[in-house]
Amino acid sequence: TQEVLAGFRDPKLAKTLIKAIENHNPGNEINLMEVCGTHTVSIARAGIKSILPPNVHLISGPGCPVCVTANVDIDKVIALTKLPNVIITTFGDMTRVPGSSSSLLKEQAAGADVRIVYSPLDALDIAQENSSKEVIFVGVGFETTTPLIAAVVKRAKAASLKNFTVFVAHKNMPGALETIVNDPDVKVDGLILPGHVSVVIGTKPYEFIAHDYGIPGVVTGFEPVDILRGVEMLLCQIENGEAKIENAYARAVEMDGNIAAKAAIDEVFETCDAEWRGIGNIHGSGYKIRPEYLDFDAWTKFHPELEATVEPKGCRCGEVLRGVMPPSECTLFRKVCTPENPVGPCMVSSEGSCAAYYRYY
Ligand code: SF4
Repeated sequence: TQEVLAGFRDPKLAKTLIKAIENHNPGNEINLMEVCGTHTVSIARAGIKSILPPNVHLISGPGCPVCVTANVDIDKVIALTKLPNVIITTFGDMTRVPGSSSSLLKEQAAGADVRIVYSPLDALDIAQENSSKEVIFVGVGFETTTPLIAAVVKRAKAASLKNFTVFVAHKNMPGALETIVNDPDVKVDGLILPGHVSVVIGTKPYEFIAHDYGIPGVVTGFEPVDILRGVEMLLCQIENGEAKIENAYARAVEMDGNIAAKAAIDEVFETCDAEWRGIGNIHGSGYKIRPEYLDFDAWTKFHPELEATVEPKGCRCGEVLRGVMPPSECTLFRKVCTPENPVGPCMVSSEGSCAAYYRYY
């Protein structure tokens, strides 16, 4: 596997692709948007922007799951933390995201039982080991992590667990893409489509973007050669006046995606409208637990009182997530807002655009 991966970092192959990109450069200003936080980091780490022709711009979209989680959802999680006899479990990044007046890390410092887990299965173990406590797993993410949460909910039901619930803030990608390509403030000429999400959903759910909006998309892997190949394929389409959804990550992504993973999502979740940070409410872009599994829905079970939501002052994560402006245009960037002292979620998450800019540009 290491040998295969090394091929996708091969400088010779990269140089050939850079040449091909130059040959297919249409010459006018081209914006290609990546909508996956892992792409944002890979592009920054490999310095890909600096080797592209100056008229070809890579802009980051709403691809970091922690970043797109709305402030109101963070506030709901904080409210759950304040319940008696509760253990909150979540992935590491989530603990540092500031809500209106607190974060999970602050609540932990104030005495709340907040535990970082590496898998929702760990949360299930904690519930089984602590039958006198309520264990809540905070689930954020796109289709990449949703099947795992679905599997855990099914397992909890099979084990008749009464003290395990999930706070669901999961989202799906295609609905957000439609909102982005309709946004009058941002011109998108092509989409570098997310590799991980596409492993689960396949390539079909993106086809409407090409058909209805005339915008090409290429599902792309994460190594430098993958990304350059994705850019080259997009430029070829643009040069030829085409709009198709192509797959440059065929070693992992199939047209129909992962049938079993999609079935697991469908069994436990149904789609619902969801609030995205900076973007607002997007029809059908979220997941909620189906009635058959509602006993495992934390918000339905506890529904604590919520404080009024206040957005972080001066933070422009919303515009960064829509691709309207780069992080460097936020006046707080580097001066007030740093990874050690993040003002908004885009600086918290390792996949956030602001954190990637801070580290690599
Ligand atoms: Fe928000 Fe900080 Fe990014 Fe500015 S630099 S948009 S304050 S996260």
